[in-house]
Amino acid sequence: QIACAGDATTLTGLVVVRHGANLAVERDTGQVIHCVSRQHIGDPVCGDRVIWRSTGEGTGVVTAIEPRQSLLSRPDATGRGRPLAANLTQLVVVCAPEPLPSGDLIDQYLVAAEHIGVHALLLCNKSDLLGTATEAAVIGKLALYRHIGYPLLTLSARDREGLDALSEHLRDEISVLVGQSGVGKSSITQAMLPDQEVQIGQLSRATGLGRHTTSAANCYRLPDGGHLIDSPGVRSFRLPTLSTGELELGFREFRPHLGQCRFANCRHEVEPDCAIRAAVDGGQIAPERLAVFHRLLKREDRSAAPERHPS
Ligand code: GDP
Ligand code: ZN
Repeated sequence: QIACAGDATTLTGLVVVRHGANLAVERDTGQVIHCVSRQHIGDPVCGDRVIWRSTGEGTGVVTAIEPRQSLLSRPDATGRGRPLAANLTQLVVVCAPEPLPSGDLIDQYLVAAEHIGVHALLLCNKSDLLGTATEAAVIGKLALYRHIGYPLLTLSARDREGLDALSEHLRDEISVLVGQSGVGKSSITQAMLPDQEVQIGQLSRATGLGRHTTSAANCYRLPDGGHLIDSPGVRSFRLPTLSTGELELGFREFRPHLGQCRFANCRHEVEPDCAIRAAVDGGQIAPERLAVFHRLLKREDRSAAPERHPS
């Protein structure tokens, strides 16, 4: 934890909440330090690992941001990405039998996870509601993702069923919960953090920021290990605009077949000698997933501005 730069002792930590230049930095011991960020170092966000120097009891100054492993950002009005959270390692895609998964949202989140380069975990909440008429539809669809290779857990935040298995999957990861409104993301977060109020209180005290910390992105330390990042911005995260090549790579079961179509720019629609359609015919790719790919491709075509630069 301790590195020496010159003769000043520098320490490392994790940004757990940020408000302007004020940062709450968590040490590996769990202690939270109120830091201010040096101006020239850039824009630290929740999840960043930083180098800091102590300036007193429980206070410090952040002098550098360590290189990021991944960055979750949200496009603003100009289409440029605004960073939301750094270094996450896992996107937890939450769905439920009520409300039923809408459109291609699950697939879009899975594409996003592949694009950012993080693990994806599928979570079916409200297992207490399964057994109704909608069960077959929900479970049938989710089995497809398990078949592709994504882990799938069912749980009930209401009945506190399946939380231990979830803890296992969150240990050693920095995770975010995403999914449509009403599936139970807040309920799951609360169930995983029985002392959430305590944590928020701790962050408020450490930063002197009061309730600001509830609207900012918070990185919560989980009792059984790992961290959970949560904020309204993170919860409404959507897939950024992607090129055809990026979109293809987001369908992980397409990968063994990519680059094998006759045409390099094949859209896997009606082109002759298409390796992806051959894989659908051969049963290695589900036709539903190719249909999702085509729907997302058309969406990208529509949203692509003529002077768009590759990002
Ligand atoms: P969010 O919008 O994804 O954060 O969803 P919320 O956590 O606010 O939950 C939406 C609604 O679903 C609330 O009325 C919760 O009480 C309810 N809910 C959450 N988890 C469960 C569950 O496991 N079973 C049932 N039956 N309801 C749940
Ligand atoms: Zn093709």
